[in-house]
Amino acid sequence: MRVLLIEDDALIGKGLEVALKAAGMTVDWVRNGLLAQEALREMAYAIALLDLGLPGMDGMALLKSARKLGVETPILVITARDGVEDRVAGLDLGADDYLIKPFEVSELLARMRALIRRHAGRAIPQLNTKEAVLDIGTHEFSYGGRTEILSAREYALMQALMERPGHILSRTQIEDRLYGWSGEVESNAVEVLIHSLRRKFGKSVILNIRGAGWMVSK
Ligand code: CA
Repeated sequence: MRVLLIEDDALIGKGLEVALKAAGMTVDWVRNGLLAQEALREMAYAIALLDLGLPGMDGMALLKSARKLGVETPILVITARDGVEDRVAGLDLGADDYLIKPFEVSELLARMRALIRRHAGRAIPQLNTKEAVLDIGTHEFSYGGRTEILSAREYALMQALMERPGHILSRTQIEDRLYGWSGEVESNAVEVLIHSLRRKFGKSVILNIRGAGWMVSK
């Protein structure tokens, strides 16, 4: 799951980046409203976390312009401002939820999951194909009679594939999803992950479409 973190405070940003990565997410962190706007337009993030006081373009202006530009990414505002007026204005401008600093990381993660589920229109936190089930809450994956909790990277890969069963993802698309902008990717990193999943669940868990990429069957 790829997340856009929009926060200019180095300390808070770093803390959030570490916490989100520890939860198995890929994080793109921007510290400027204008760069955030560009990122939201270019990449389909699962969710964006938005601080309101930002250089370049402030969070309220960013919300307004992003929605005007048709950006549908769920946006969770994280802010120190606790005025009711700010909260109402933010929600009116297209924020999906609000969290006041300081907050517990566990609450942030729970709200993020809720927003992502709501956005996807899924009441049950699972991705399903005919033969596989991926639990978004627990990272448990079941296939061919086996159930295991996946590592963060395995989960991110399976989630990317299970979101669009029957659709091929290229190596570049998978690397983008798994490693974001900052990651230095070993050339065979994707193969290593796929090999590890196949060893656990059997070769047919991920199909290799020669020269094009990988997919899971519907
Ligand atoms: Ca700020």
